Amino acid sequence: RERAREVLESAARRNTNRLGVEAMELLDAYGIPTPRGGVVSSPSEAQDLAEEIGDEVVMKIVSPDILHKSDIGGVEVGVPPDEVRDTYEDLVVRARNYQQDATVLGVQVQEMVDLDSGTETILGMNRDPQFGPLLLFGLGGIFVEVLEDNTVRVAPVSEPEAREMLDDIDSAPLLRGARGRDPVDEDALVETVQRLSQLVTDFPAIVELDINPLVATPDGVQAVDLRLTID
Ligand code: ADP
Ligand code: MG
Repeated sequence: RERAREVLESAARRNTNRLGVEAMELLDAYGIPTPRGGVVSSPSEAQDLAEEIGDEVVMKIVSPDILHKSDIGGVEVGVPPDEVRDTYEDLVVRARNYQQDATVLGVQVQEMVDLDSGTETILGMNRDPQFGPLLLFGLGGIFVEVLEDNTVRVAPVSEPEAREMLDDIDSAPLLRGARGRDPVDEDALVETVQRLSQLVTDFPAIVELDINPLVATPDGVQAVDLRLTID
């Protein structure tokens, strides 16, 4: 909880109310699994971090002015080690082309998550003036807007309520292993819903938060992307 407070305070010091993947530590602090990686501010740092990860990586532009990173070419998946430096430069150029005066905090270098064995879900929160924090769980990734398959509960949620959320969505069979796929780790999903519930309950300053995608696999979950607004 102390670690989470520090992340939010450092954002306040930077004078911004929009946070992205640079705030992933907030999730770590609440035990929500995130892929290995971090935010770096130069091509050579990116190279070092990629070498530490030791495989192909995902690289993402980190800027409070860019809400949908992939829309502006701000996400590169499967970057081999010898292309990490050039990719860093490319991502910054694309951010500048999109908005000349965009604040660029750096580039996130992240371990690859196996999407083939996983399902992209979304886990989010919106603070409603009347009902308080509303948790949303649904199908994530590129399907979010198209299918709008989701369900909402008021936080804090109990374990049975969190489990109910998984059952609620139309795509529930997908999580259970439709078409010969292995079922995802439902307990890990339920646990994650509860942990996010706790986080937004502890910090009323968070007015909005989205983990999209939260990748659910047979072995657990990984919060791959994060965006939040604080007041
Ligand atoms: P944004 O939503 O801002 O465009 P994301 O971080 O969600 O950026 O990345 C966009 C998409 O790229 C994700 O929905 C996912 O399909 C893919 N992706 C992002 N990070 C990873 C990762 N670590 N491993 C595999 N795929 C990823
Ligand atoms: Mg995303």
